[in-house]
Amino acid sequence: MNLWVLLDTQIEDVCTYLSDKNHEITSGLSEEELSLFETNAKLSFYTVFNRFLLASGILVLILALALLYFTRQYATQQKQQNRPPTSAVLTRIYGAIMKTYTVHCSCNRIELSLCGEPRARVICHCIDCRELLDGPFYPVTVWTDQTASITHGESNLSIYKHPRLKMKKYFCTNCGEVLFNTNSVDWRAVPQWLIAKNHNNQLPRELTAVTHVFYEQRIIDVSDNLPKHLRGFSSPPFEG
Ligand SMILES: [Zn+2]
Ligand SMILES: [Zn+2]
Repeated sequence: MNLWVLLDTQIEDVCTYLSDKNHEITSGLSEEELSLFETNAKLSFYTVFNRFLLASGILVLILALALLYFTRQYATQQKQQNRPPTSAVLTRIYGAIMKTYTVHCSCNRIELSLCGEPRARVICHCIDCRELLDGPFYPVTVWTDQTASITHGESNLSIYKHPRLKMKKYFCTNCGEVLFNTNSVDWRAVPQWLIAKNHNNQLPRELTAVTHVFYEQRIIDVSDNLPKHLRGFSSPPFEG
């Protein structure tokens, strides 16, 4: 006798029938058919699972490509506007784990954050610094755009690009204070006087200059105990 459950309401009748030991219970399917049935069910499950994995992979790939595309668009846009790349979020994360120095221009409209250690801290006597910044020499800390970034008031920042040198000067449109200048590889040179001014006129000890560079181009002799290089770091020392 074949037994089919058509409706939920019939399940009780069927259960009663099955629990009656006087009835022999057999499957309508042979052993082979049952085994084939189970194999097909498993295969069907794996196919659905594989499709799910494939779809998830494609989705992740599309999202990654979209992120890459928009990041590049943003970077290009920033470059076209001749603005320094903003990395305020990165700087804040960095600042949470590294030492951070915060400086402002004279009118307080622009905030510049310096994180971690500078790439260099020198007193530069080169002609280019003199030409760009109009000082006899330049006591400076050098950072990257990741470690020195504008964290507030970027709309007040103006840029002067030297017509001949590969150097730019970033200054406040309102008060004229120079926050930093860049060189040919876009490193950010922050004047030591600006940092000192923002720290009770005391330059943090770990940011003081460790050497003079381009001393052969000087217009003023400096008498101190710091080493003096004729040109860059790897150039011969000045024998005074
Ligand atoms: Zn200002
Ligand atoms: Zn210089």
